[in-house]
Amino acid sequence: MDALLRAQEAAAPEVGQGRLAEYIPSLAAVDPHQFGMVVASCDGQVHAVGDADVRFSVQSISKVFTLALVVATEGEGIWDRVSREPSGNPFNSLLQLDQEAGRPRNPFINAGALVVTDRLHALTGGACDALCDLMRRESGRADVGSDPVVARSELEAGHRTWALAHLLASYGNLECPVDQVIHEYVAQCALSMTCRELALAALFLARDGVLSDGSPFLSARQAKRINAVMLTCGTYDSAGEFAYRVGLPSKSGVGGGILAVIPDRGVACVWSPALGPSGSSAAGLAALDAFTTYSDWTVF
Ligand code: GLN
Repeated sequence: MDALLRAQEAAAPEVGQGRLAEYIPSLAAVDPHQFGMVVASCDGQVHAVGDADVRFSVQSISKVFTLALVVATEGEGIWDRVSREPSGNPFNSLLQLDQEAGRPRNPFINAGALVVTDRLHALTGGACDALCDLMRRESGRADVGSDPVVARSELEAGHRTWALAHLLASYGNLECPVDQVIHEYVAQCALSMTCRELALAALFLARDGVLSDGSPFLSARQAKRINAVMLTCGTYDSAGEFAYRVGLPSKSGVGGGILAVIPDRGVACVWSPALGPSGSSAAGLAALDAFTTYSDWTVF
């Protein structure tokens, strides 16, 4: 696929440029000079370049799937506890949450994701297990799972996550005990997957909510709405820059992965560990920018 090769070429100067997520010690140990990208289309074709089959820590990309699971299970009730506006603030900011009385701006910043995980845990009795089930089924890989070393590393060093969860609890916006929510949250973020596996697992968002076996998971309207929240909030305080340069519903993670949905066409997943200033992969952004420049896989 020509646009994929051009994306890889455009990203090359950015690979290794930027910082690793040093606040999670085991992510800081990853080789930053890796790059992989996959484009999976709704009709079953998969194109891959580079390190497309190397597993990495999906981190915040998991938040799309926990939100989808909550919405699939009980509909729209989660929006009583989380808003749908871009935050314009760093993904782990405490200030805005306090100013806004414990109601997170959106489900993709850390505070919002903690509320979604809390709800999923209350609904299923095992938030991370529910997530792993979905990812295994949709990627076709039974060995997909959470990396306990990464989870422990974040559990021990993630002081801001603890602070956010306690702040949420102080405002009455958690149902489960703080330490349970955090354990589930760091475990879901520590999910280890390849670009290929992630792209396949996310295809339901490009297929109006339909899973790989043809069964309905989300309604078309729910899938459309999750894509809309990804476009406006999926890349934190660089969501505007992403919309300008890429123009696709996207979700990034501090492991260096970015997932982008092209409704009715497919999913692109790119990974390169070094992060730009807002916590998204610098090479990943360059790759998606080029991909949407040299292909007609866009929504605009
Ligand atoms: N687990 C990370 C955290 O809570 C996820 C952040 C991210 O990927 N942006 O800080």
